[in-house]
Amino acid sequence: MEQLEITSIKKEIQRLKKEKNAVVLSHYYMTPELQTLAGKGGVADFVGDSLGLSIEATRVTQQNIIFCGVRFMAETAKILNPSKNVFIPDKDAGCSLASSITAADVIKLRQQHPGIPVIAYINTYAATKAECDICCTSRNALNIAKSFDSGTLIFVPDVHMGHNLQKKIAEETGKKLILWNGICDVHEQFSGSSLKALKEIYPRAEFLLHWEVPEDAVAVSLNNRKGVLGSTNDILRYAGESASKQFILASECDLGATLKGMYPEKEFITPCIRCPNIKKINLNNLLKTLEAIDTSESGRFEITLDQELIRRAYIPIKRMLQFA
Ligand code: SF4
Repeated sequence: MEQLEITSIKKEIQRLKKEKNAVVLSHYYMTPELQTLAGKGGVADFVGDSLGLSIEATRVTQQNIIFCGVRFMAETAKILNPSKNVFIPDKDAGCSLASSITAADVIKLRQQHPGIPVIAYINTYAATKAECDICCTSRNALNIAKSFDSGTLIFVPDVHMGHNLQKKIAEETGKKLILWNGICDVHEQFSGSSLKALKEIYPRAEFLLHWEVPEDAVAVSLNNRKGVLGSTNDILRYAGESASKQFILASECDLGATLKGMYPEKEFITPCIRCPNIKKINLNNLLKTLEAIDTSESGRFEITLDQELIRRAYIPIKRMLQFA
């Protein structure tokens, strides 16, 4: 897209937001033009991780919420704000983790392991959440797992995050996790060998690793080396607090843009692996979403969930929010 065209689309988005009483929430993995705040030349009203944005959604006064992220995130915003209209610019923006497990799979797991509590990562669809005891995000997963009395827990769906959590929990509590076999297609690509090669090229850099990367990548990166294994928020905070000037990021490519914007004096080496799902959202379909609000076209973009499903999926999310 030409710069002039981008500028005029942004201007029209800003105008329509006012006219349609709408707010734009944008995930840290969006492209820079979508995760720049409106006050700084972009179009986003809030930028954050999926949980932060869903909580933000409960505070907005506008009737229409447009979620620039993937579908499970927009669903969570709807569950937390059933009286608002929640839209996503492309309903096909899915997630390999969320689609790896269904409600029926959780019911079967419960039958196989009776009485064992089920923790669902927030990256699940509403029907899956509704069958679980509590949700978690990468921010609060460890504290939530530690809070249960049970010595065994079921954690779904991310197998790599599960293994990384298992290691920490076993060290601190001896608890055991039963895992599902879901993977994030993006974080799965940060292998131990690729990060080892980067470590040799940049010997002084610290590692910023998301919970969802495979455990061999964690072992190679954090062995005798400072750095962090954590949530998106942990990564953003650690990069600011560390005295290091150079970091290797193992997470979605555009989180590198967020980090550079926050800490321009620091260098972030980012093997650029983009989430093809979240990148389905762009300025053009955001504009189309705004145009469709209050017209017969709005159903193409609006998230609709059955009232009973909202009620049931809210229970594990509400429990999680006590740990947020
Ligand atoms: S980065 Fe991974 S977890 Fe996040 S939306 Fe994409 S596929 Fe799902």
